[in-house]
Amino acid sequence: RFRGWTIFVTGGAGFIGSAVVRHLLQDTHARVVNIDKLTYAANLESLPGTAGNMNYFFEKQCICDGLGLRRLFEKYQPDAVMNLAAESHVDRSIDGPAEFIQTNVVGTFTILQEALRHWRSLSGEKRKHFRFLHISTDEVFGSLGDEGFFTETTAYAPNSPYSASKASSDHLVRAWHHTYELPTLVTNCSNNYGPYHFPEKLIPHMIIRGLAGESLPVYGDGKNIRDWLYVEDHAKALSLVLERGSIGETYNIGGRNERTNLHVVERICDLLDEISPNPSGSHRNLINFVPDRPGHDRRYAIDASKLERELGWRAEEDFETGIYKTVRWYVDHQPWWRAIANRGYTAKRIGLNR
Ligand code: NAD
Repeated sequence: RFRGWTIFVTGGAGFIGSAVVRHLLQDTHARVVNIDKLTYAANLESLPGTAGNMNYFFEKQCICDGLGLRRLFEKYQPDAVMNLAAESHVDRSIDGPAEFIQTNVVGTFTILQEALRHWRSLSGEKRKHFRFLHISTDEVFGSLGDEGFFTETTAYAPNSPYSASKASSDHLVRAWHHTYELPTLVTNCSNNYGPYHFPEKLIPHMIIRGLAGESLPVYGDGKNIRDWLYVEDHAKALSLVLERGSIGETYNIGGRNERTNLHVVERICDLLDEISPNPSGSHRNLINFVPDRPGHDRRYAIDASKLERELGWRAEEDFETGIYKTVRWYVDHQPWWRAIANRGYTAKRIGLNR
C-alpha cells in the first residue's frame, strides 16, 4: 500500500499522529513527512525506530505559517496530507481558548490554502490521486441523550471552545472542497486511548495517579459516557479512508465501546490492583468525585456503520483487552511519562505529590 506515495502527517509527534506515523512506516510503503510545531503535547520519543528510517522525515513547522508550509510542499511534492495538528485538550481550551482558535481554525485554513496551491500545480496522475484528509472529533456533534448515535448527517452543535474550533475547521475543509474542488475527506472519531497518550488525559491521568497512590478525581457523578477506540485502530481506519474513501465524504470512526467515566476509572483501579497492588488497599478507595467540568457533554456515541459497510473497517481491539494493554504499557514505560509529568503546567494539572 502507498508505494511511491509521500504523505504529510501534521501533528505526527502527538498521540494519534505518532500512531499514524508508526502504522504507515510499519505496514505500508509510504514516505512519511512528520510536520509538527512541537508544542507541550508533542513527544518525539513516541516515534521509536524512526531514526535512520529512509522513509521518515521530520520538519519542525507550525501549520499557521503559510510560507513555511509552501516551502515543504515544494520540497517534498506530497501525494496526500493527513491533518492531525491541533490543540486537543478540552480543559486547556476552557482555560485559554486563543491557541485553539489559532491552530485549529487559522492553522487549518492556512494548510488548506497551501494544499490547494500545491494541488493546482500538479498534473496527470499525481493531480488525480492527491487527497487531503482532515482528522476531527465526534465532539463537534455536541451531547447525546440516553439513546441514539452520531451519524455523518448529525447536525453540528459544539459546546466547548475545543469542539467549536474543530467544528470550524471541519466546515472550512468542506467549503474548500465544494468551492475550490480540493479533494478532501473528513473523519470524526470518538475518544482514543492507548500507549503514548499525554498524561493529562483521563485514562493516563488515572493510571499515573493510581500508581502513585494519589486520589483519583472523577468529574461530577462519573456517569458521563464516552465511546472508546484503541488508538491503533484509529490509525488503521485513517489510512484506509485515505486510500479508499470517496472524495468529499465524511466518515465517523468509533469502537462501539460506550463506557461511563466511572466504569473506566474502576477498571483501571482493578487492573492496577492486579498489576501493581497498593499496600494500603484497593485503588478504588482512591476515587474522589470533584465538581463537574463546565459545559461537560453527557454522552458521545458514534455510529461507524458507513465506514464498516463501505470500506470494510472493523475495530480490532475490544475495550477490555485494550485497557489492559494500556495500563500495562504505562506501568512498563514510566520513563516516557515521568519526563512529561514533571514539567510545569502538566505537573500542576496532574498534581503528583511525589
Ligand atoms: P495531541 O494534542 O496529542 O497532538 C497534537 C500534535 O499537534 C502535537 O504533536 C502538537 O505539537 C502538534 N501541533 C499543535 N499545534 C500545532 C501547530 N500549530 N502546527 C504544527 N503542529 C502543531 O492530539 P491528539 O490527541 O493526537 O489528536 C490529534 C487530532 O485528532 C486532533 O485534530 C484531534 O482533534 C483529533 N481527535 C483526537 C481524539 C482523541 O481522543 N485524542 C479523538 C478524535 C479526534
